Amino acid sequence: MASETNETREKSLNFLEEIIEESIARGEKRVQTRFPPEPNGYLHIGHAKSICINFGLAKKYGGRCNLRFDDTNPVKEDVEYVDSIKRDIQWLGFQWAEEHYASDYFDQLYAWAVELIRKGLAYVDDQTQEEIRENRGTVSVPGTPSPWRDRSVEENLNLFERMKNGEFPDGAKVLRAKIDMAHPNMLFRDPIMYRIIHAEHHRTGDKWCIYPMYDYAHGQSDSIERITHSICTLEFDVHRPLYDWFIRALDIYPSHQYEFARLNLTYTMMSKRKLLKLVQEGAVMGWDDPRMPTICALRRKGYTPASVRNFAEMVGVAKRDNVIDLGKLEYCVREDLNKVAQRRMAVLNPLKVTITNYPDGQTELFTAVNNPEDETAGTRQVPFSKVIWIERDDFMENPPKKFFRLSPGGEVRLRYSYLIKCEEVVKDDAGNITELRCTYDPMSGGGSSSDGRRVKGVIHWVSAKDAVEAEIRLFNPLFTKENPDDVDEGQTWEDNLNPESMVRITGYLEPSLREVPVGEAVQFERVGYFCPDTDSTPEHLVFNRTVTLKDSWAKINR
Ligand code: ATP
Ligand code: MG
Repeated sequence: MASETNETREKSLNFLEEIIEESIARGEKRVQTRFPPEPNGYLHIGHAKSICINFGLAKKYGGRCNLRFDDTNPVKEDVEYVDSIKRDIQWLGFQWAEEHYASDYFDQLYAWAVELIRKGLAYVDDQTQEEIRENRGTVSVPGTPSPWRDRSVEENLNLFERMKNGEFPDGAKVLRAKIDMAHPNMLFRDPIMYRIIHAEHHRTGDKWCIYPMYDYAHGQSDSIERITHSICTLEFDVHRPLYDWFIRALDIYPSHQYEFARLNLTYTMMSKRKLLKLVQEGAVMGWDDPRMPTICALRRKGYTPASVRNFAEMVGVAKRDNVIDLGKLEYCVREDLNKVAQRRMAVLNPLKVTITNYPDGQTELFTAVNNPEDETAGTRQVPFSKVIWIERDDFMENPPKKFFRLSPGGEVRLRYSYLIKCEEVVKDDAGNITELRCTYDPMSGGGSSSDGRRVKGVIHWVSAKDAVEAEIRLFNPLFTKENPDDVDEGQTWEDNLNPESMVRITGYLEPSLREVPVGEAVQFERVGYFCPDTDSTPEHLVFNRTVTLKDSWAKINR
């Protein structure tokens, strides 16, 4: 099924590829894209899609993709975010051609603002933010021009320079483009270009106390970098004419913007502001809490870069907003891990099994295959002894007809090891099963039945005296609602947080699981994919559930 879908996809181009191929056909020699994050938070799976598109298109067409930090708001931005963004892009497997910062262009942007003032296309406004908002009008009512709209060029130049020199407090003045206070696109009603913020910037320090608005900086930054295809999400389509207006007014290199639908996922919150709130309020363990949709969280949870890239490819680029099933992401993770993850045995809900006819104190080693999908992964030795743990679910006292695992008098194969037969069920006073007493067939070791008897059931197990205990963190969606913003009367989106999003249990692991590196997912056979967490220490192992083995809850409509 998957390969079929891939083949059909390879034949048809997505609309961005069509645009690029058309521009190449028209004679455009370069493909230059960029990924333009604002360093005000950690990147999430939505950004991953944007990264895959921008870097992917550059790669496909022999072009280049820049990383540009749109760092125009000193109050919300930080180097912590810059560093995390770089790490995440590289983890996804991409490398930028050039690293830029909108703040590197502050001198140029200032000079251009002066130029626009000279051309009579910008003015200093003394109105408060409040007044500016009120006077902007509505879609049906034209705005009211500011009383300062017709200041002379000289006065504007003088005031703007004094704004830059720090003569005015925050909010006292702004620089606005002089366009059209009755324009049907509200963004054209004399948009603010610069505001006064006496705040230290993470790169320019205290050099500036006026900062350009995103809308004034973004298009020109693209132009400076001679971006041929400036790709962004749909909500910016109303901004495009404004970017074009600045570019024309300044007569500089015309970058073209193209918009695609942002990625929305069920059960997932993608607003950076709200994610930050979860972190600040301690609702999660941090930006990289495995329940978060951030790239660093996916990494910590054991997702592979390839699975995230495949997901971006699978959901494709659309021109209309839609919501993708979270199950699709998990499907991609499962599909990749099935190929690359090593297999191990671990019991998460243990039931004690004593093999009565097995010698006390004896240990045998059985050879287990590390990955049936990958011969090069080799084998390992798994210890076996008289007392083992099996999964409670693998035993039923009164089994239905098609139950091929263990039941009274029944026989089952222990994976890579012996056949055992359940002879006795031990219970406590309350009637709970506490132990099974079994016998083994000494001739059946090593995974193949020497006497030719076939049993249908194969179950996993761990030798009790060799087992390593670990804290296992089972993750479920962070929100109980498909749309976390779907709020009941009198509640907030935070009431939709899932109280069961992390369940901690104790698991019993085969000893080789001590050696798995942090973040590397392995398959606990028949149970799911798990990886050691960053909290894991040799004294206290912690494993995250990366993804279940089967799609247990989401619908996949491919
Ligand atoms: P903010 O509200 O802080 O602007 P943002 O999510 O837009 O948040 P940016 O750092 O501006 O964050 O985003 C960088 C790039 O990633 C932009 O080009 C943006 O369009 C894109 N992007 C953001 N969210 C998504 C998403 N959910 N799906 C696809 N692309 C996205
Ligand atoms: Mg943004």
